Amino acid sequence: MKVRAQIGMVLNLDKCIGCHTCSVTCKNVWTTREGMEYAWFNNVETKPGIGYPKDWENQQRWKGGWTRKANGSIEPMQGGKWSLLMKIFSNPNLPEIDDYYEPFTFDYEHLHTAPDMKDPPVARPRSLVSGKRMEKIEWGPNWEEILGGEFSKRSADYNFEGIQKDIYGEFENTFMMYLPRLCEHCLNPACVASCPSGSIYKREEDGIVLIDQDKCRGWRMCVSGCPYKKIYYNWSSGKAEKCIFCYPRIEVGQPTVCSETCVGRIRYLGVLLYDADRIQEAASVADPRDLYQAQLDLFLDPNDPAVIAQARADGIPEAWLQAAKVSPVWKMAMDWKIAFPLHPEYRTLPMVWYVPPLSPISARASSGQISEKGGIPDVASLRIPLRYLANMLTAGDEEPIRVALERMLAMRAFMRARTVEGRHAGDLL
Ligand code: SF4
Ligand code: SF4
Repeated sequence: MKVRAQIGMVLNLDKCIGCHTCSVTCKNVWTTREGMEYAWFNNVETKPGIGYPKDWENQQRWKGGWTRKANGSIEPMQGGKWSLLMKIFSNPNLPEIDDYYEPFTFDYEHLHTAPDMKDPPVARPRSLVSGKRMEKIEWGPNWEEILGGEFSKRSADYNFEGIQKDIYGEFENTFMMYLPRLCEHCLNPACVASCPSGSIYKREEDGIVLIDQDKCRGWRMCVSGCPYKKIYYNWSSGKAEKCIFCYPRIEVGQPTVCSETCVGRIRYLGVLLYDADRIQEAASVADPRDLYQAQLDLFLDPNDPAVIAQARADGIPEAWLQAAKVSPVWKMAMDWKIAFPLHPEYRTLPMVWYVPPLSPISARASSGQISEKGGIPDVASLRIPLRYLANMLTAGDEEPIRVALERMLAMRAFMRARTVEGRHAGDLL
């Protein structure tokens, strides 16, 4: 056993209000440079939706993540299969700028300089690339929410396991949720495996994945190789860039910018201890639906004296051991099992965890559509289908999601009874 420490994040999707403050503050701090106009280290997507860049979850198209071979080993989709030369001249798995968007601003000046007219002047969009006025904006981060009805038509072309086609067109059955996304700082990062220059590395001390800008040669295989599409090519510097988990802040004990500025207070940072000797074993389990459990099995109990002794022998600093003991990531992912990794089937062992949302429940409750089991609302009456959440968080295994939602519903009923209805906690046990 080799103990390593990893910093991770849990996002409670039940609390995200889709305000994009996290994206904007992150952008202001990290990606205001020339060449990074289109880059959002943190972005917030409306789901179901095709996301940013468009269709990023479609690994048939981008060939990201890892694939499991017949002999049980895994190899990165980018790297072994195609020759480097072919990639250089025509990488068929690279998103183009239209899959992101043409960055734009608005002609605010026009608001002040427009002549007197019947209607108030309008600030029209202007391309940040060409400087010209844009008649039509085709796409952008979280465009689904903005497009409204138009999205309904477009998204029907993308068959999200059949669900999308079933629900759109019937407004009363529609559901939506917000999904904030950042680099997952994976335990088994496909970006590292696909880089021919060896410029991407995972830090020993905290697991943050970084790109050495001096070594990067701009091959962009990491852009294709990352199944979460969280590496961006800087067209000005010719180098790849990505979320750095605000490591200069982490190193001095501060939270990431997105966590500190989150309006919904949905983000929790914490340390996990894991067994680095079993990474490959966990990432190569045969059935993708077992990957969530395989990932949990990697983590070590920070309250176990044997684990702590081994961690000390492996050089984990005392402060990190203390942080692991009070880690909300451990609590929510391992102890309560209400937080899940995003798309574990990509086999990168991602370290940003998500608590699935319950929020549509209040709308249904107020319209009398929530059935109850023993005083606790029934999971079956939630609006977001279990299957949809399971496809996103557990490679299709609905059972862990159902258990998590039931726990959250029970806690919600308990807290509501205690705080809103003023009932004694003992009455509810
Ligand atoms: Fe690498 Fe981050 Fe993509 Fe994981 S999510 S493969 S660490 S860029
Ligand atoms: Fe959601 Fe927080 Fe980001 Fe707002 S700041 S979109 S609440 S994660």
